[in-house]
Amino acid sequence: MSVRAVTVIGLGPMGRAMAEAFLDRGYEVTVWNRTPEKADGLVARGAVRAATAGDALAAGEVAVLSLTDYDAMYAILGPAAARLSGKVIVNLSSDTPDRAREGAEWLAGHGARQLTGGVQVPPSGIGDPASSTFYSGPREVFERHRPTLEVLTGADYRGEDPGLAALYYQLQMGIFWTSMLSWLHALATADANGITAAEFLPYAARTAASVPGFMEFYTPRIDAGEHPGDVDRLAMGVASVEHVTHTVHAAGVDVALPGAVLEIFRRGAAAGHADSSFTSLFEVMRKVPE
Ligand code: NDP
Repeated sequence: MSVRAVTVIGLGPMGRAMAEAFLDRGYEVTVWNRTPEKADGLVARGAVRAATAGDALAAGEVAVLSLTDYDAMYAILGPAAARLSGKVIVNLSSDTPDRAREGAEWLAGHGARQLTGGVQVPPSGIGDPASSTFYSGPREVFERHRPTLEVLTGADYRGEDPGLAALYYQLQMGIFWTSMLSWLHALATADANGITAAEFLPYAARTAASVPGFMEFYTPRIDAGEHPGDVDRLAMGVASVEHVTHTVHAAGVDVALPGAVLEIFRRGAAAGHADSSFTSLFEVMRKVPE
């Protein structure tokens, strides 16, 4: 059996964890990074440091990119474009669905194929099959390289459209950042009242753990376009968010976050949804006036 080879371009915390995982599994790993010293630890473990991005591409068929965004891909691969023909570029860098589609087109113009990826775990989750990464792009390319991709995390193929993996990833990140910010915001109000993050942790965790149950309950109703006010009413939600906002204000804490939530709740009530569930805000938010 031939030795499996992979190139990793971009050696931030994520790219380094990925190169490590490939080394752990006996891959021949070629690496390149704009700041070359970040490869030192990997080279000490047996990775090959390519002198240029073009050399890194030439080392094998598959190159995994772990960069800040797609602009970084153009900055790195643009000057090496002549060496892209026949390559599979697994772009695991965050960006928008449209940028991912443009990237796939640009690569196709140079004879390469792109698999778009959206990694759903921090670097510590790399190498764990229970972790998950969204992929999209040509199905046969994904299936052929699935064993290599699964060295990093479990692989969740979403479809041929190269934008899909980026779309699913950004949907998840929207939930992640707003949830984490709401937690930090609650901690700021707790702190203003002399309650530490550690003291509040069990309660924050309990609320976070209750969220999937609410999602499961409301999901069929949302898909059916039904928002009955049988278990909650938006009018109750408006009053509740007002209470949150006043509590935050009284603590001298920044009210921008609950203020934005309140504005959306009030808009929903003004649009005639006061007696419907708060899920009617789905209808309000998806019809933003031009
Ligand atoms: P970093 O920002 O630490 O690393 C980014 C990499 O991109 C570095 O190798 C950097 O090179 C390179 N880079 C950025 N701009 C350029 C440029 N113009 N030219 C050349 N190289 C460039 O990010 P991470 O390693 O943390 O993450 C990588 C990707 O993974 C990101 O898209 C991130 O959103 C995603 N991700 C990260 C997670 C995390 O927890 N870290 C979780 C899930 C996804 P240099 O070293 O020279 O600066």
